[in-house]
Amino acid sequence: MPVQRTLSIIKPDATERNLTGAINAVFEEAGLRIVAQKRIRMTRAQAEGFYAEHKARGFFGELVDFMISGPVVVQVLEGEDAVARNREVMGATNPANAAEGTVRKRFAKSIGENSVHGSDGEASAEREIAFFFNLAEIVG
Ligand code: ADP
Ligand code: MG
Repeated sequence: MPVQRTLSIIKPDATERNLTGAINAVFEEAGLRIVAQKRIRMTRAQAEGFYAEHKARGFFGELVDFMISGPVVVQVLEGEDAVARNREVMGATNPANAAEGTVRKRFAKSIGENSVHGSDGEASAEREIAFFFNLAEIVG
């Protein structure tokens, strides 16, 4: 399986509860390596741009408000099949449907405040990594 990189975000509901380390431990135990990481406060324009694909969805405004409600930790995860592996480790969008042991099953508060973001494919991973990081910030 190819070594890939994927974009992860630890969302405001998780930073608020001081869960950054607990969530990072889940990634590392799953074989994902954190090769870049920074804690930021997203601007409204940044959040709207990042989630542009969801602009037409009914939850878009709520999603943007939530993502700028507190600090987030944006990070690049590297490992074999990292895009799919991270989606597995995250669990389903709605924590009620997430498998045991996944980040969302363990930590998410609701379908909206669900603790983590992860890229959903190789093309989106590349685009999302470039949205937050320049190459010099990623050290594998
Ligand atoms: P995922 O994050 O699992 O890839 P989506 O890309 O479908 O899920 O949605 C992006 C984010 O929008 C979700 O992680 C969640 O925070 C929010 N979201 C999705 N569906 C809903 C919903 N029905 N109500 C409120 N927020 C939602
Ligand atoms: Mg998505």
